[in-house]
Amino acid sequence: MVQRTDFEYSTVPAGEPGPGEVLLRVLYLSLDPAMRGWMNESRSYIAPVGLGEVMRAMGLGRVVASNDPMLKPGNLVTGLTGVQDYAVVAAKSLNKVDPQLAPLPRYLSALGGTGLTAYFGLLEVGQPKPGETVVVSGAAGATGSMVGQIAKIQRCRAVGIAGGAAKCKYLTEELGFDAAIDYKSEDVRAALGRHCPDGVNVFFDNVGGEILDIVLAQLARKARVVLCGAISQYNNPADVRGPKNYLSLLINSARMEGFIVFNYAQRYGEGIQALAAWLAEGKIKAREDIVEGLENFPEAFLKLFRGENLGKLVIKVAEE
Ligand code: NAP
Repeated sequence: MVQRTDFEYSTVPAGEPGPGEVLLRVLYLSLDPAMRGWMNESRSYIAPVGLGEVMRAMGLGRVVASNDPMLKPGNLVTGLTGVQDYAVVAAKSLNKVDPQLAPLPRYLSALGGTGLTAYFGLLEVGQPKPGETVVVSGAAGATGSMVGQIAKIQRCRAVGIAGGAAKCKYLTEELGFDAAIDYKSEDVRAALGRHCPDGVNVFFDNVGGEILDIVLAQLARKARVVLCGAISQYNNPADVRGPKNYLSLLINSARMEGFIVFNYAQRYGEGIQALAAWLAEGKIKAREDIVEGLENFPEAFLKLFRGENLGKLVIKVAEE
């Protein structure tokens, strides 16, 4: 687990934007479990954050000064801002957002990385078909809550696995999941058997570890296991625990496939359009869990690993 002492807070000049760059006032920061992985010095889909560098983070900011004709002062944008008050960023790496269409933090949740992860991970990798049973772990989180709701739109049965009675109630009573399993107090194996009598057709896994193993043992024939994340393993000081029940893939002619949302970068526009339409029609609900103050970064980040967030965890850095 990260600690406050792993980070240094410093005050330095914000910097001047060079050609094609803009200076942003950061307003909101997205806190993502993946940031923990970026702190490890190992090969991944993206280079690790180096010692002494600004901690990498997605954020939303207002353009203060621009050296690019596409962006003007006052424009609102999302992009990799880092955990800082001001950021100098290449204009072409930023996406403009419209404050009239949605509250700003939503561009970091349902209309941002986690919404897109749910959209492409479920629809492209999971390929759910009407009538199938979709199980999602980390179900009350930013990604998982979208996965279950998109599964319902695809006319699937949605079963969520989450920690605690309140989160489970939120899934079934507010988000329309057919069933929710509290992994902290229920026997997940028995509950899955009850809620998925014909087996699991699609498992969208956000947590890995023991839950992955339990679901693997209950796959239906030709099931698809979508490896989105494995948060139970991110702070594991020992070796990552692999799935013991992987032979279930063999006997069920099933497949397990990992993906990174960046793989779909060329199609983000399509994903955002679909998600925005579903939000507008009331077919999906989004929720942000907002912590105030950049200085609270380390403690706020830990909420993800303690299950203390409900919905997308965001830091509000400055007034809009
Ligand atoms: P989130 O689900 O909003 O927050 C994390 C949640 O994980 C916590 O609220 C907690 O909920 C659960 N959790 C924490 N420790 C756990 C443990 N040991 N066992 C079981 N559950 C645990 O976060 P998110 O941003 O949406 O990310 C969810 C997953 O998606 C992460 O694994 C992340 O790395 C992955 N992800 C992948 C991609 C990609 O491109 N592949 C992109 C974005 C996110 P409970 O209270 O229910 O335990």
